Order: sequence, then structure tokens, then C-alpha cells
Amino acid sequence: MNKFDMHTHHYRCGHAKGTIEDYIKAALDSGLQVIGISDHSPYFAEKMDHPYPHITMAASGFDEYIQEIEELKKKYKGRIDVLAGVESDYFPKAASTYKHEFAKYELDYLIGSVHFVEDRNIFDKNRWEGMTEEEMLRVKNKYYYLIQQSARSGMFDILGHIDALKGYFPYISELYTPEIEQTLKVIAETETAIEVNTSGKMKYCGGWYPSAGILEMACHYGVPVTFGSDSHVPERVGDEWEEVRQVLKETGFKEWRYYKERKPVIQPL
Ligand SMILES: [Zn+2]
Ligand SMILES: [Zn+2]
Repeated sequence: MNKFDMHTHHYRCGHAKGTIEDYIKAALDSGLQVIGISDHSPYFAEKMDHPYPHITMAASGFDEYIQEIEELKKKYKGRIDVLAGVESDYFPKAASTYKHEFAKYELDYLIGSVHFVEDRNIFDKNRWEGMTEEEMLRVKNKYYYLIQQSARSGMFDILGHIDALKGYFPYISELYTPEIEQTLKVIAETETAIEVNTSGKMKYCGGWYPSAGILEMACHYGVPVTFGSDSHVPERVGDEWEEVRQVLKETGFKEWRYYKERKPVIQPL
């Protein structure tokens, strides 16, 4: 069984530390056989080449990013499988532009993540101020609806951190909505994987994305699962991999997977 991590960032996005090679070395130190490189996609639909230097790389830098991964793939061949990925934002209106850009490259996998709802970042700590519960629920429903759309777009192999709305606002998890169950049904239908993302500890919510209750529902509907540390420092590569494996087994999952050349590689748990 291969130990893998599908979700890592590096210096290009402007808010992570270390080079791609630093993450590969950290993966080797942690006994991984597979390391996915998945930095934040450029904002391909913006007019400017590099509108948000602290969120992601320049559009013109994507080419060089992929080339660097390709070189490192060759350099580490036989020691660790380096996979070329990206964590793409999902903006419904810009989806075709993103699709067109990604089609130019031989990516191993794409993670699709919803980071914006009603034009505001989900991790914006102030976005909930002064909102009624009805308004919060509206945002939550829209968030899950966007995730459903991202699954239906067929663009992605993996959906990133599917309950990350709780990141800086844990209270949101307490507001019930049937949209979560509906979202898992859609994800299962489209055979997209969700990641168990262990970076919740870096925010107020703590723990993992998604929560145990959502994972149980995902198991019930047959949603495939993968692992992602969402590392922004090399030290976090493979973080809590074994704990996640145990919890997935206890939840009832029989297997998990990573992606290579856009195809799932199934691993027993
Ligand atoms: Zn990031
Ligand atoms: Zn993300």
C-alpha cells in the first residue's frame, strides 16, 4: 500500500513556505511513496497577470510551475512518485476559461475548491458579522450548491475541503441544511472524490475537513475518498495520515485512492 498526500502548496502562491523540492524531500522523510503537488491555480479569468500575489501565482507563471514538476518527476523517479496537480478555484462563470487553460497540460489530477461565496472569501473572518441565522444558512446553502456544481462540471478528480466554511466560523456547522446530504449524493453520482483534509487545525475549527458526520454520510452514499494535508509548510506533508486511515476504516470505508494521469489508483485501507 502506498502512502500518499494529494494536497500541498509552495512559495509560488505567496502564502506558503518552501520550494516544491522541499515538499518532495519532506515526503521522503515521512515515508511517502506518492506526493501530489497542487498549488493554487492562477486567476485565469482576471485581466491582470498577477492580481493577488498573496493568494496565488501569476497566470504567466503556471507554465513554469508545471515544467518544474515535470523535471522533479524525472529527478525523483524510482524514489517517489511526484504527481502534477493543481488546486483550482471553482467559479461557475469562469469554468470554461479554466478548463481551456488546464487542457494545455498533462496534469495527473485536479482538485476543485470553492473559496468564494457571494464574492467573499469563505475564510474572511468578518463576513459573518451582523448576519441573522437565516442569512448564514443562505450562504451555507449557496456554498454547498457551488460544490454540487463543481462536481457536475466534470472538471475535477477531487473536491477540496468540502466543509471549509467552518474554518474561521465553527458555529456554521451547527446550522442544519439538507443541502449537505444532497451534495454528497451528487458527488457520488459524478464519481468525484472528496479529500480528508487535515489542515483544520490551522484555523479556528480545528480537526479535519469534512467533519465525522459528513464522512459517515459520504460512506453511506459511496463517495470515494482521498487524503490531503493541505500543507503550506513542508513539515506538514502527510500530517495525520495514519489517523485518517484508522478513522476511515472505522467509519466503514474499505478503500481510498489517489490520482495519476487523471485516473484513480485505488488503495486498500
Ligand atoms: Zn493556500
Ligand atoms: Zn483550498
